[in-house]
Amino acid sequence: MKFDLNSIIRENVKAMRPYSSARDEYVSNGSKMVFLDANENPYENGVNRYPDPQQRNLKQVIAKQKKVNSSQVLLGNGSDEVLDLLFRAFCQPKEDNIISLPPTYGMYTVLANLNEIEERKVELLPNFQPDVEKILNCISTNTKMLFICSPNNPTGNSISFESITKLLKSFNGLVIIDEAYIDFSDQESWVSQLNNYPNLVITQTLSKAYGLAGIRLGLCFASAEIISVLNKIKPPYNVNELTQQKALKRILDTNAIQKEIQLILEQRNLLISALETLPYVTKIYPSKANFVLAKVDNATKRYNQLLTKGIVIRNRTTQALCENTLRFTIGTPEENKLLIDVLKTL
Ligand SMILES: *Cc1c(COP(=O)(O)O)cnc(C)c1O
Repeated sequence: MKFDLNSIIRENVKAMRPYSSARDEYVSNGSKMVFLDANENPYENGVNRYPDPQQRNLKQVIAKQKKVNSSQVLLGNGSDEVLDLLFRAFCQPKEDNIISLPPTYGMYTVLANLNEIEERKVELLPNFQPDVEKILNCISTNTKMLFICSPNNPTGNSISFESITKLLKSFNGLVIIDEAYIDFSDQESWVSQLNNYPNLVITQTLSKAYGLAGIRLGLCFASAEIISVLNKIKPPYNVNELTQQKALKRILDTNAIQKEIQLILEQRNLLISALETLPYVTKIYPSKANFVLAKVDNATKRYNQLLTKGIVIRNRTTQALCENTLRFTIGTPEENKLLIDVLKTL
């Protein structure tokens, strides 16, 4: 069997024509023009004009850094918007289904519910790797997307190259690899494999390693054909001007980003060493991300104890395979020291 993009696009999406905004119809060629086309206030304040709906400058820099073509990039208001666009482009409400691999990121479930798409959950194996046979058996003709989070949230591990390769080759829907934490990992991004798999979609974000959670910028990499479907249905001005400017400045400052990542990884090792000495910590899961998942005697009790000391972590005890686990985000050296000092007193 072969992947056929046309067969998985929703009929209404195939039929529709995108909204054509003023800034889509006329693209400035740099010469001095008078813009009286978009009903904007003409008085300059830095943001009185609509932003570039295609984010050309920003995309060009990202495409160069990631060694892909600009036509293989889509930007969204956080990766949450990118994921929502994928649902709306490819999943017919009340008919289609998606597969997720719990324990994992909660947004796939929220978006499946919102879009009235059945979610087929295939739990990870005890080593937090996918059960490839079970996933393949779970696929129906209406299965449109498979979500793989790597490194996975909340477990912290990377999903094996072999498993993902097998799934990409055997599944005729989209394999979406959520790489929100890839910059903390020593594994290569799947973006480098884009030209080998027509059904591969990768999402990344500036919210974690890049330190820009507040500006909301999500990245999507896929074939130019898939990206053009998403472009057709995205809100015209989904990435605002302030976000485009701030993101552009930050992604060019690669040294600063690398330095922060290095600090976070050092602190991650420090926290793991400290957790190892605590009698109520029964297991520490290896992490390729900027957080650590640990099993304790009683997660809810320990969570509440930390809260009373003013430290907020994440209690993951209700997640599949995560009974009595806590997820610690790596903070600054000062925050980390405070956390460790408090943990030692419990
Ligand atoms: C934090 C996180 C994101 C980020 O989403 P944004 O909307 O880009 O902030 C995406 N996926 C996973 C798995 C995450 O943990």
